Amino acid sequence: MENSYDVVILGGGTSGCSCAYNCAKLNLKTLLVEKNNFLGGLMTAGLVIPVMKSSTSDLNCDYYNQLVALCKKYNAQITYKDKNDGWFNPELLKIILDEILSLPKLEILFETDILDVVKNNDSIQNVILSHKLLSLPIVAKYYVDATGDAKLSKLSDCSFLTDNDLTQQSTLRFIVGNVDTERFCKFISSVDLNEDITNTYRDESNTRNELHFTTASTWDENKKWALDKYLKKGVEDNLLIDRDRSYFQIFSVAAGAGQVAFNCPRIDCYKNNPFKYSLELINARKAIYRLFSFVKAQFAGFENAIITNIASQTGIREENRVKTKYVFTKDDIISPKKTANPVLNANYSIDVHSKDKNKSVLQKTGSYTLPIESLISSDISNLFVIGKILGADFYAHSALRVQKSCMSMGEAVAKYIASIEK
Ligand SMILES: Cc1cc2nc3c(=O)[nH]c(=O)nc-3n(C[C@H](O)[C@H](O)[C@H](O)COP(=O)(O)OP(=O)(O)OC[C@H]3O[C@@H](n4cnc5c(N)ncnc54)[C@H](O)[C@@H]3O)c2cc1C
Repeated sequence: MENSYDVVILGGGTSGCSCAYNCAKLNLKTLLVEKNNFLGGLMTAGLVIPVMKSSTSDLNCDYYNQLVALCKKYNAQITYKDKNDGWFNPELLKIILDEILSLPKLEILFETDILDVVKNNDSIQNVILSHKLLSLPIVAKYYVDATGDAKLSKLSDCSFLTDNDLTQQSTLRFIVGNVDTERFCKFISSVDLNEDITNTYRDESNTRNELHFTTASTWDENKKWALDKYLKKGVEDNLLIDRDRSYFQIFSVAAGAGQVAFNCPRIDCYKNNPFKYSLELINARKAIYRLFSFVKAQFAGFENAIITNIASQTGIREENRVKTKYVFTKDDIISPKKTANPVLNANYSIDVHSKDKNKSVLQKTGSYTLPIESLISSDISNLFVIGKILGADFYAHSALRVQKSCMSMGEAVAKYIASIEK
């Protein structure tokens, strides 16, 4: 067959880009297939900024470090006062990802989806891709599912993990512009003195000298949320409904003067009911307009704000997890074991966004590793699964799903394939 590769990666998002970068650097002939007309997945289309600080060592962080270095050249990143260097500008990232992935061994297909998988016993023989009206048969030695929803695994008849009825709330993120951040920072700093929740930071690393901030409020009673009295007033004034109080988090955008990103509203992703899910998206956009009207009315600095972006990809935290050779569990996070082929070293918390009041979980952990077997399909010998579809139980997944860990998964799989091919 004409179009043949060492590795085909489906999905050019957080984990897929890292995998493609590392495969190409390791001299593997690689094809990266992305259904959007740009790369980045949740980082760009989902407006998920920032990358959480999670790794305790630099195991499989080459791609992440290169990405940060390139973002610095473009002035598209900031390093916050807690030394987290993963605050990116989502629009500039689209340009930067094109550049970082301009590698001789890598080809990228945009606006391309998968139509079918042809199997030979327990391995994938080839895949049929679909670009506009064209069907493209593609053959590879190894396939990587980085789609975020496990479409390649589904078409390959893989088993899925259905370990419990728990679900994470999803979020449709948005950004508003034209905010006077200097005035807003003065306002929140006077309202909320808890630095763990609300803090500001002036980035003096470049001539922009911007003031950045992060703040949050939820309806959970585990903490004293200083902003909640404003959200309650918003409900009294009919600007908000009570559910809008469930999770409210906003922060400034790197290289986005006057831009504020909203990690809300939360919605249900209704895994098995596309009709309800579609109605929920309409509800989410109504909620976005309510939240926008609320901040304009109640917060100093937002008087002239405008909505500039609504995520084109829904922020689905957890959806389909694939059964892998080793299913990583909450116990592996809490009582870490030594592993022969560690994918990452991380310490990000068990983090569940519950629909119900007072049921969300943010449980700190020590450092843990992940074995490569949690990224190898248990059913298909030449299929790897990376990013948020990895083989982990619900709680372990809630810790591993953060972006730096997803990037390490992509990198570890590339290195593993290169080692088999040696
Ligand atoms: C609301 C929300 C907030 C979060 N906040 C944070 C945070 O603050 N910090 C942090 O570190 N992590 C955060 N996370 C977690 C993190 O963003 C995700 O777990 C991670 O980005 C998942 O990466 P991925 O590669 O699995 O998926 P994605 O980044 O979604 O990539 C999947 C890619 O596959 C493409 N694709 C899908 N189907 C096909 C197909 N059939 N053919 C071709 N291409 C396809 C998509 O277009 C996309 O580009 C958050 C997640 C959510 C949802």
